[in-house]
Amino acid sequence: MTTTSATPSLDGQFLGRQADALRRERQAQSDLAAALLEEIRTLNDDTAVSDSTADDGFGEGTGSAVDQDRDRALHAQAMTRVEEIDAALRRIEAGTYGRCEVCGGAIGEARLEALPTATQCVACKAGGLASRHRAGTGRHAA
Ligand SMILES: [Zn+2]
Repeated sequence: MTTTSATPSLDGQFLGRQADALRRERQAQSDLAAALLEEIRTLNDDTAVSDSTADDGFGEGTGSAVDQDRDRALHAQAMTRVEEIDAALRRIEAGTYGRCEVCGGAIGEARLEALPTATQCVACKAGGLASRHRAGTGRHAA
């Protein structure tokens, strides 16, 4: 694979390390999502069984419903992470990884190492309103 001008300052070694880190986290997050899904199914079964069999399972049944809500929220979170990671891996393949989606500048290796799925540079992330104002005035002219 030849390096293209699309990658501003990131070298192949750095991108390789980032891809490894992203794939490791993707594995961890999809394992977590699968485990949570399994737990949700188990909780469903428990609720069904305790509903039809015993009165003394009332308290536990209520607890299971709360657990299910929590597990569903955690599952959704894990799936969102997997999507973010997939998007980052696609950017690595496309050669646009490490470029801020707002200003088009470099996100910076330190920030990418800390947050491999980052899509914005520190300035754009921090100055949400300020950058939107700037982009707004710029785009009206164009
Ligand atoms: Zn930016």
